[in-house]
Amino acid sequence: MSCTDAPDHISKQPTSAILTACPGCDLLLEARGVSEGHHLVCSRCGSTVVKAGNNSVDRVLAFSAAGLFLYFPAMLLPLMTLTSIGMSVSGNVLQTALGFFQGGYHLVAVMVTLTAVLLPLIKLTITCLTALHIRLNKRPSWLKNVFRMLLHLDEWGMTEVYLLGILVTLIKVHDMASIDYGIGFFCFSALVLLGVAASASIDRELFWKQIGNHNLASVDLSFPPGGFEDEVTARDYGLMRCHDCGYLVGHTKSTSKEVHCPRCDATVHLRKKHGVQRTWALVLTSLIFIVPANTLPIMQVDFLGIPDRSTILDGIIYFFKEGSYGIGLIIFLASVLVPLFKIIGLVIILLTIRSGQDRFLKQKAGMFRFIEFIGRWSMLDIFVIALLTVLVDFGFFTSVHTAPGASFFCMVVVCTMMAAIVFDPRTMWDRCRTETTTSGTYHNE
Ligand SMILES: [Zn+2]
Ligand SMILES: [Zn+2]
Repeated sequence: MSCTDAPDHISKQPTSAILTACPGCDLLLEARGVSEGHHLVCSRCGSTVVKAGNNSVDRVLAFSAAGLFLYFPAMLLPLMTLTSIGMSVSGNVLQTALGFFQGGYHLVAVMVTLTAVLLPLIKLTITCLTALHIRLNKRPSWLKNVFRMLLHLDEWGMTEVYLLGILVTLIKVHDMASIDYGIGFFCFSALVLLGVAASASIDRELFWKQIGNHNLASVDLSFPPGGFEDEVTARDYGLMRCHDCGYLVGHTKSTSKEVHCPRCDATVHLRKKHGVQRTWALVLTSLIFIVPANTLPIMQVDFLGIPDRSTILDGIIYFFKEGSYGIGLIIFLASVLVPLFKIIGLVIILLTIRSGQDRFLKQKAGMFRFIEFIGRWSMLDIFVIALLTVLVDFGFFTSVHTAPGASFFCMVVVCTMMAAIVFDPRTMWDRCRTETTTSGTYHNE
């Protein structure tokens, strides 16, 4: 289906402005006049709706190309060399990921390899390719699918978290060994900065306008003269927002027919399918896993042949005892508070949907965006263990190994991240604002 199937009233509106819908609450907003470098923020839920980048394509191309140039040295050259009792050990990022495979922790190994090694490469390659094609004014049909994939992979690339993991590791080992920074450390730090800059510079609307289908039906999606009398959502107006590119597509009553976005070809749903049920399932699963993740040891240090296993909490207490309050606090936040906050926050939102009460909706919407943002930072402790396992290997004297709690902890991170991904925040506004949205205010004029 294309936009030509949109309800009649859409094509009758004057082309005075361009409509867009908020991804967080579905409110219809005027997207005209968002100048370069500025954001359009939804007045109802506070989500960023449009982010107009400054010179976006060139910047993305420069940052991602430079990132690709540094990628292999960053992954393969040694991050640092530790020297203690006459022995030297060095390791690179790839070794730290593969170390878990040797230890038999396959789930953790896959997760670390994907988030720290493979996805950063895939993300940079797609970003660079897309910007390059736009620069060269070429639009191969596969580019849309690849760019859509990038948007879904975005939060699973975790080089920033890994870099914080390196810093925590440095503080953890500075007493036991002398540290020499390798070229890999500087390349990796630069790679992180370039990757963040490339992602932040992408002006999604501009990119989609360039690489999306151009033979779109000429539909004037415009604001009524004088604006809407009340909060009108895209759904009230007979429209639905494409999850991938943000294009507004008309929706029909029949649910049997799959609707494809005319701009990016993605399948468009009015709301994410079974969002609430899936979120409940994932939240409850993480609640189960969080118990072994916190009570089982996640790391084992062998000192002179004597094994000493420690849980997440033991690790935090160690830092506080050593006087490294800052690092102790960071690990406490990332490993204990963040997973708990994500679970409790999502349960509050799910219960709100159940009850239909419309109190503090804007605050709850803000909390959901925060949950989405912080999700990945819980991987910090896993990355620290990955680094310690490879770098602290002085044979009989001291060595570090992974312990079973790490697998459960990884599951908690994956489940809570997935829960935020499958949840559709618009469901909360649908359920709690049914009386206040005047469906059809404008239709009847
Ligand atoms: Zn909104
Ligand atoms: Zn689309």
